[in-house]
Amino acid sequence: MTKFNRRIFVLGSVAAAGTLALGGGGQARAALAYPFKLGVASGDPLPDGVVLWTRLAPTPLDPDRPGGMPTNQNFTVDWEVATDERFTNVVQRGSEVAVPGAAHSVHAEVHGLRPDYEYFYRFKTEGHLSPVGRTRTAPALDVLGRDLLLAFTSCAAFEDGFYNVYQRMAEDRPGLILHLGDYIYEGGPGADALPGRKHSGTREIVNLAEYRLRYAQYKADADLQAAHAVAPWLVVPDDHEVENNYAAWKRDNNKPELTEQQWKDRRAHAYQAYYENMPLRGGAKPNGGNIQLYRRIRWGRLATFHLLDTRQYRDDQACGDGWKYCPEAGDPARSLPGTAQENWLLDGLGQRNGTWDILGQQVFFARRVDGNDASGMDGWDGYPASRDRIQKGWVQRGVRNPVVLTGDVHRAWANELKVDFTNPASPVVGTELVTSSVASGGDRDISDIPIPDAAYNPHLKFYSRRRGYVRANLSQTRMDVDFRTVSTVTSKTHTVSTQRSFVIEEGRPGLRNP
Ligand code: FE
Ligand code: CA
Repeated sequence: MTKFNRRIFVLGSVAAAGTLALGGGGQARAALAYPFKLGVASGDPLPDGVVLWTRLAPTPLDPDRPGGMPTNQNFTVDWEVATDERFTNVVQRGSEVAVPGAAHSVHAEVHGLRPDYEYFYRFKTEGHLSPVGRTRTAPALDVLGRDLLLAFTSCAAFEDGFYNVYQRMAEDRPGLILHLGDYIYEGGPGADALPGRKHSGTREIVNLAEYRLRYAQYKADADLQAAHAVAPWLVVPDDHEVENNYAAWKRDNNKPELTEQQWKDRRAHAYQAYYENMPLRGGAKPNGGNIQLYRRIRWGRLATFHLLDTRQYRDDQACGDGWKYCPEAGDPARSLPGTAQENWLLDGLGQRNGTWDILGQQVFFARRVDGNDASGMDGWDGYPASRDRIQKGWVQRGVRNPVVLTGDVHRAWANELKVDFTNPASPVVGTELVTSSVASGGDRDISDIPIPDAAYNPHLKFYSRRRGYVRANLSQTRMDVDFRTVSTVTSKTHTVSTQRSFVIEEGRPGLRNP
């Protein structure tokens, strides 16, 4: 067990007063300005611990010196975990070294905590104290545990909207938050950006410094910081953390124009910056341009979260992507998660460890076709055999309560899942909840309209074009779902409301009215 390093804290206090202090190596170093401007975060809870995140950045938005940290110095960052917000009862302490090669990010994996318990944490370096974050551990693996309030969302295009959705999620004080991708967008500064929210840089981001600066811009937002500080997050990226609609090593098009090597470097840079800026465990540290993100989080006997990566291993979108009729998409050799991840998912579902098996993933899962049998090639409709194997797989394994959580489409949907979507008599075998976006789409086209293509897809039960998130209370007998929506994202002044609620009953997949 590590002890809080008092010596460094005392030296740091002197540095903060504006004088020179001696660092660990004995060289004189300049005082560090307040470095916790990107907030704090926690993630991936276990019954005995959680990972704590921060990143040192005294000047997050300085384009000439991203982050504003010395590029040749390591910094020791101490952390504390307490049972109270004022840190009178500190139960764990430790320190990590923040290095320039990881953008001075910190990922502290804490162990030795009590299961199913609320904690508070903070960081210290060079005499500076971070904001306080609230987190919690998961219940013990064999325990039924208490109810869990969770919230999930996706798609936070900074230029399109203020983060009212993050603010409201934080106010709910959920026990767990899932972010299903498009946490950042890679586009260059746009002409339609809201005041004060124009994207960093001068062009679509491609290199590591640009991705780092983009994360800093997003993470400097107070509402995003509040949502991170309120609960542990489970994060999975979608496409815009790298570039639009990429598939494994294939690009959607060659814009911006890159050589094959430049594109490979770009993906590696994007994954590196994602890891640096997310509360992920060390197992997710990128390696040779790849990143291990699909993983399982157990929540006692209440729930198991299967977090999927639907970008890194997928076959290329069929028929050149887009919305179209494409028989080739049905080739059984095609997979969206890739064979290894598909098998990993089915193995995990077969364990039936918790009442609820929750798939946290990115793209539209249920079948949705129009009158010409056209559908979206980037979602699971572009990989129907893959979807089939997963749905039939969970049916064969007797999975009682599969719930798919989805982002990506900037619209809210609630869907019933069927092994045969074309047969009205086919039983409902699962439920899908699709969150709208935090900001992407802004206030454009938010009026209420009927469910698109409802006549061809009777399993689609709810649709909304408003910005928002989904809140769900999980118990052993039911899941109470609220589709939450904010009145506007082009102004901080807004209201929040529940547009629609559903109940999913244990042992009875599908959507009921409360
Ligand atoms: Fe998006
Ligand atoms: Ca997306």
